[in-house]
Amino acid sequence: MKKKINTYLLFTVFLTLMATLMIAVAIFHHMYREQVIEDMQTYSYVVKNLITSEEDLQGKFVDHEVDMRITVIGENGEVLFDNEAGEGVLDNHAQRPEIVSARDSGEGYSVRHSDTLEQDMYYYAVMLENGKVLRVSKGASSIWRVFKSTMIGLAGIAVLMFILCMVLARYLTENLIRPIERLAGNLGEMEEIDTYEELVPFLSTIQEQHKDIMKGAKMRQEFTANVSHELKTPLTSISGYAELIETGIAGEKEVSRFAREIHRNSDRLLTLINDIIRLSELDSDMTQISCTPVNLYDIATSCVEMLQLSAENHGVTIASHGFRCIVQADKGMMEELVYNLCDNAIRYNNAGGRVDVTVSMRGSRVYLSVKDTGIGIQEKDQERIFERFYRVDKSRSKLTGGTGLGLAIVKHIVAQHHAELELTSEVGKGTEITVLFPEGIGA
Ligand code: ADP
Repeated sequence: MKKKINTYLLFTVFLTLMATLMIAVAIFHHMYREQVIEDMQTYSYVVKNLITSEEDLQGKFVDHEVDMRITVIGENGEVLFDNEAGEGVLDNHAQRPEIVSARDSGEGYSVRHSDTLEQDMYYYAVMLENGKVLRVSKGASSIWRVFKSTMIGLAGIAVLMFILCMVLARYLTENLIRPIERLAGNLGEMEEIDTYEELVPFLSTIQEQHKDIMKGAKMRQEFTANVSHELKTPLTSISGYAELIETGIAGEKEVSRFAREIHRNSDRLLTLINDIIRLSELDSDMTQISCTPVNLYDIATSCVEMLQLSAENHGVTIASHGFRCIVQADKGMMEELVYNLCDNAIRYNNAGGRVDVTVSMRGSRVYLSVKDTGIGIQEKDQERIFERFYRVDKSRSKLTGGTGLGLAIVKHIVAQHHAELELTSEVGKGTEITVLFPEGIGA
């Protein structure tokens, strides 16, 4: 790229220089030509006023050092006088352009190139009162001569300019490319690198993406480590109990207890694997969310019914409130969302506690709130409980069959529906988690 920019710049400079040179020479030559013609006109007027007859001319101009040719042409184009060639030597001049226009309008000029002299010949003709035409002519450098004589000087300047531009182009491209090259080497160094205004938005985007990639990589790494750790615990238990049974150490009574433990741990493994699969599905855009109008109140009521037994087992009362509210959402995901929130509200509750699920409207927005009178969450943990595998009380979570992934799934679903999450909680009093949908219809 650097080479390309350099070449383009130099090529442009070369073309510009050439064009400037050509134009300068052309303008210079044009002005020069105008000047010569003007001079010739003055000469012709002077000579015209100076002479009265051809004899006059003979006396005044022949054999004198005059760097100008003077010719008098008769009415029929015959050369009557010429201070350089003798009388009658020259052919008929009637058709020469300057003579034709002098006869037409009183005066005329013409410029003709002479290859032998390598000169442009300038002719200026004026009509005399006696009907004859007086013509003065003079040779002057042609455009090529002007060009040739100035060429060396001009070429010298051009070469100098070209070298100067080469240095400048190199400096400019270096300055343009340097920050990019340095960043390519180390994206983290952006703050220390001297950049220029136009590059800043581009660099900020790259840096943000770089940070996101790094964050993503770190999260994946942590997730893998967590998954392995989470799977290891129940598997170790299963393997241990199975070994005890296999070696016959366990008595008949213990066999059934160990079998129950194996069963419980395998269930736990299954739940864990299901949650992991679910999260990776949500992560990898594989699950196309199919939004349809969904009655959130119906979903909340069925979920409450479904969890009634579990609530009773925990000594908790669960109830739904509100009215029919329609949101554009994926029905399956909504069921999952309500289930995860209610399940937590029961599991992290106290015996005799309550869980209230409400579906209602706040302004033009539909919301779902799951409120419990449970153990509550400390302020410092409130942000973090939506992280994967983050659990405030690990043993209680495990004891109640938690995986640490339920709220991560909730957060994912909420984001996919462009909804918002609100959490208010007080330790010992309870927790309320609200999902606020972007819009909806209440009835
Ligand atoms: P888990 O499977 O452990 O319940 P979640 O992702 O559902 O995982 O929840 C993460 C953590 O947040 C839980 O381990 C628990 O400590 C806390 N938590 C979630 N819901 C509640 C709630 N309603 N009351 C108190 N703590 C809660």
